[in-house]
Order: sequence, then C-alpha cells, then structure tokens
Amino acid sequence: MNQRRIFIKNTLIAGAAASFSPSFLMSATRTNKEKLGVALVGLGYYSTDLLAPALQLTEHCELKGIVTGSPEKIPVWQEKYGIQDKNIYNYENFDSIANNEEIDIIYVVLPPSMHMEYTVRAANAGKHVWCEKPMATSVEECTTMINACKSNGVKLAIGYRCQHDPNIQAYMKVAKERPFGKVKMITSAAGYFDGRTDHWKQKKDLGGGAMGDMGVYALQGARLATGEEPISVLAQASTTRPEIYHEVEETMMFQLEFPSGALASCQTSFGIQMNHLHVNYEKGWLKMEPHSSYNGNKGSMSDGTIINFPINSQQAKQMDEDALSIMNGQNMLVPGEEGLRDIRVVEAIYKSARQNCVVKL
Ligand code: NAD
Repeated sequence: MNQRRIFIKNTLIAGAAASFSPSFLMSATRTNKEKLGVALVGLGYYSTDLLAPALQLTEHCELKGIVTGSPEKIPVWQEKYGIQDKNIYNYENFDSIANNEEIDIIYVVLPPSMHMEYTVRAANAGKHVWCEKPMATSVEECTTMINACKSNGVKLAIGYRCQHDPNIQAYMKVAKERPFGKVKMITSAAGYFDGRTDHWKQKKDLGGGAMGDMGVYALQGARLATGEEPISVLAQASTTRPEIYHEVEETMMFQLEFPSGALASCQTSFGIQMNHLHVNYEKGWLKMEPHSSYNGNKGSMSDGTIINFPINSQQAKQMDEDALSIMNGQNMLVPGEEGLRDIRVVEAIYKSARQNCVVKL
C-alpha cells in the first residue's frame, strides 16, 4: 500500500476518533433492546444474498441500516427491507452513525483491505463490530482492530459462520475428547471456480488471493480438528490462469505441522471446486464433505457416527448467537483474536511460498 493511502487511512481513523468518541458509551453499553440493530457496510454479494435475508430470520438482531457507496442500491434495499432514510450512510458520512441509537452493531462486509479502516471507524463510533473473514491483510491490522474495539469498550466478532454450525462443532468436540486417540494426519481443502476476471479477489491491494478468501476455511479445518496452533508451514502458490492471477495466487497448497506432531496437507483455489476435511487419528478417522458450505455440512466417523445436524440458516444462527453474547455481556464465540490467529498463519504461508522454504511460527 502506498504512503498516500496509509496517510488517508490514518487521517480518517484519527479524525473519526476525535469527532465521535465522546458519544460512544451510550450506545455501546445499551443492551436493553429486544433486538439489536445491525447496519451492513458494503452491499455486495454476501450482504445481498446471505446476510440481509438471514437478518429476516433472526430473533435477537435486525437489519436497521446500510452503509454504501452505491446510491442506486438504496431504493432497492429500502423497498425490500423498509430501511429508514435516517439509517442510510455512505463512506464519507459513516462516522456520524455514532449518533444513531438504532444501530448497535456494524457488520463490515467489504473487501479485506478495507476491514481495518471500517472496523476502527465503527469502534470509534461506539458500535459493536462484526467483521467478515479474512479479518484483515496483516497481523498488524488485526491487532489495530482488536485494540480499537477494546479501547472503545465494544465487542468484535469475526464472521466465521462455520464455528456456529453444529456439524463443525462435532469435529471440534472430537479434538477435545479424543475418542480415537491423537490426531495424526489431516487433509483439508476449500475452493471453487471463480470465472471473474476483474474483481477484488484478483487484486493484491484489495486483499485478494485464494489463501485469504477460501484458504482460511482449509486452515480452520486443520486448526479446529487439532485444537492446536501450527508451529511450522511449507507452502507453494500456483496458477493455471496467469492472465487473471498475476497479482495474487489462484491456488495455494500448504502443509502445517502442529506441536503434537499432527500434520496437515491443505489446498485452496479459485480454480478448483473442493470442500472436504479428512482427519486420521491413531485409532480411527473422521470425514466431512462438504465441511465449509452455507448448509449441508455433513460427515461420518470410523465408529459409525454420522454427523448431519440440520441447520436452517448458518448466518442467522451466527448473528443471533453473537447478538445474544453482546446483550448478555459475554465473550464472542469467534472473537478478533481468532481471526488474528488465522492471519498469523496466512502471513507465514505467503512467506513460505515466496521464499520456497519452511517457515517456523
Ligand atoms: P463483493 O465484491 O460482492 O462485495 C463487496 C462490496 O464492497 C460491494 O458492495 C462493493 O461495492 C463494496 N466496495 C467498496 N469499496 C470497494 C472497492 N474499493 N473495491 C471493491 N468493492 C468495494 O464481495 P463479497 O463476496 O460480498 O465479499 C465481501 C466480504 O465478505 C469479504 O471479506 C469476503 O471474504 C466476505 N465473504 C464471506 C463469506 C462467508 O461465508 N463468511 C462469503 C462471501 C464473502
């Protein structure tokens, strides 16, 4: 990122803090509503197709506001969701959301390079923050986000919907209870074919690349199935479409080594459909396919156990659970620190791919 952009970013963040911090305490601590008001920032695919519809199903939070740089989207969203004029913001007047008591939570659904700026501005406005994955483009940015939320007394949750899914929680439980002994070997993959040629996912400046986007699902599969943090990584980036993927990787293969000695072989791609997790233990196995879909995640274990919990809307469950945690003053299920743990490994993966060597963590 060039110096000018960093300067603009920092100026915005500092300006937001100076102008709006005093009013934050009122809205951040107010938890006596029946439903918390959510404002979506960025009205692209995920907000439009998944989050806004899921917010029609939630019991503890509701869609109250939007923040968009595309004025043509406003009437469409107002007609569909009855959003009032006073709850509509653009990227310039966003900080004045501090004065809006109807908005309790700001959900950042922008390209990853923008997550830090909007999380910090939201926190400085005194609002709780939900931020999409990948949390940010560096550990440094993640740390800034965590600190901004802490110093403003607001909660920060990362949109890892899968951790709210009982099917994923089933293999996290196996990691804890160890019915098949220690985890020895994992294969974890997450990818899809992206036919777009000029999207932020293909741009380095905006935080694109398969690793941050889909790779975090493969990484989460390995981390959650072991319940451990990797101690070393070895990675290789590749592309079969260099005319599209010249700034960022189309495909990343990465191996992880865990403190217990467990090994993981992980793959992610914007050119290959894959969605599975295989875990081999000392005395058994677990397979999930799919393992990171919006619905239908399912699997089986070597003792005949079937993992197939029905779930209506993963996103509605995620947002309801996170809203309840805020209302009850509890810790978030997937806090900023969990997003940071992934980005720490992602940074090491990129370093390994660049330097073509094992990177210790
Ligand atoms: P998208 O491209 O469809 O939408 C991005 C939005 O950001 C658009 O409304 C766009 O107008 C806006 N925007 C503002 N400034 C922009 C800029 N400089 N360049 C590009 N867009 C800009 O993307 P998406 O698929 O909705 O992804 C948004 C976020 O949600 C990402 O962090 C992504 O990883 C995440 N996501 C998460 C899931 C999940 O399952 N948790 C699924 C899809 C996307």
